Amino acid sequence: MGAGSPDASGGRDIRDVAVVGAGLSGCLMAVLLARRGYRVRVFERRPDPRLGAGDEGRSINLGLSQRGINALRHAGLLDRVLAHAAPMRGRVVHLPDGDLGYHPYGTSDDQILRSVLRHDLNVVLLDAAESAGVALRFDARLADLDKADGAVTLRFEDGAVVEAGTVIGADGAFSTVRARMQRGEPADYHQEFLPWGYKELSIAAGAPGDRRADPESLHVWPADGGLVVAHPNADRSLTGTIFLPLTGPGGFDALRTPDAVRAMITARFPDLTGLVPDVVEQFLSQPTGHLVTVRTAPWHWRGRVVLLGDACHAVYPFYGQGMNSAFEDCVILDGCLDRNAADHAAAFAEYQAIRKADTDVLADLSAANFVELRDRLSSPLFLARKKADLALNRLLGRRWVPLYTMISHTTTPYAEALRRSRRQNATLAWLACATAAAGTLLIHRLSRQGK
Ligand SMILES: Cc1cc2nc3c(=O)[nH]c(=O)nc-3n(C[C@H](O)[C@H](O)[C@H](O)COP(=O)(O)OP(=O)(O)OC[C@H]3O[C@@H](n4cnc5c(N)ncnc54)[C@H](O)[C@@H]3O)c2cc1C
Repeated sequence: MGAGSPDASGGRDIRDVAVVGAGLSGCLMAVLLARRGYRVRVFERRPDPRLGAGDEGRSINLGLSQRGINALRHAGLLDRVLAHAAPMRGRVVHLPDGDLGYHPYGTSDDQILRSVLRHDLNVVLLDAAESAGVALRFDARLADLDKADGAVTLRFEDGAVVEAGTVIGADGAFSTVRARMQRGEPADYHQEFLPWGYKELSIAAGAPGDRRADPESLHVWPADGGLVVAHPNADRSLTGTIFLPLTGPGGFDALRTPDAVRAMITARFPDLTGLVPDVVEQFLSQPTGHLVTVRTAPWHWRGRVVLLGDACHAVYPFYGQGMNSAFEDCVILDGCLDRNAADHAAAFAEYQAIRKADTDVLADLSAANFVELRDRLSSPLFLARKKADLALNRLLGRRWVPLYTMISHTTTPYAEALRRSRRQNATLAWLACATAAAGTLLIHRLSRQGK
């Protein structure tokens, strides 16, 4: 059966695939499908980023962790991506009093994250897709989608009409494919905006040895009512993201003049003014981005349409897992297609069954990590707990793995990682109680002997 020809049921060949969205998951999935011998066309609303087009208002660089690394390795693209990446071995915490704290990400050399520019990553993926035989169409914004059992028809804003045997919706958090696929179907959809937004800041490379701009660490500035996170770039500069409430006295809405911005930065992030001399100008010229969590079901329709990445599970960026989980989707869907090559309905159902519970957990963890980064990084008790976690990991190896390690440095399914972490916490609480009880008993006995 040739791709593009009718299948046995008289419908269009299921291996004739249209991917909507040439972002991160769309490109990676296109590569994997082309390698399976599918005919793949990718449609992207933006211009080709390889021709120098901008990517305004989107996060500039991203933290790649084990799940993303594993997916890129699966596609044979890891080395090409790592050639553009900067290592992040731990977190430098810029405390409000000017002190610096440092927390390593793990206990061994392979427990590091990589920071990569979204543009560079996208270009590697687009080049790989093209080399694998994928047809790429840019400036093609999907406007509508007609579902039918035999084929799916895509209608684009410029009037183009395309028919495909299978459609993959990799068109991000505000997915048109998702909306049209679920139209008229019994479907759940829950979207939650964080009342905080973000702007990006460029931070020039620091002097060699300056820990305030260490190019091998993630940097975090926790503050009362604000948060800045910065990733290093391969050229030793950093890209910072400033997160603030959208409204209220210290929020973006109130920060519209140079004086107001300068006063806020000086009060909340004092050492940023030294590192970014034009911080006020940058702040006022950058757009404000919004952050959204999406939970939805179903993720697929009758073996003809399926969703990937942010289109089915957008999460807040605070665990650095949105792209990593979108890449992991591609590997899991690829495995489901392997096991159900002739039956996409079965493949897509299996994919959602494996994945949805995990990405729901990721949404919760990502929201919780916002509070951790913002409020707890300067708490001595919290930091002591983090140190104890790593020390127990060093002592007990795989029998004690901190939650952060399981999420970022392994491919343990998210829900399983959370269950394991809760069991560990319960054991720790039990041990603490047992030690306290034993101590009390001992003191009691000693005091009786002394009488
Ligand atoms: C501030 C910030 C920081 C982040 N940091 C990290 C991080 O460190 N690590 C991490 O893992 N994740 C991070 N993320 C999350 C990550 O960016 C996303 O999870 C990831 O991009 C999702 O990939 P995707 O392929 O699903 O969607 P996208 O990469 O958003 O791609 C969707 C594509 O679809 C296109 N499209 C949309 N609508 C249409 C249409 N109608 N027709 C045609 N094309 C369309 C878009 O133009 C886009 O190219 C961060 C996000 C933000 C906002």
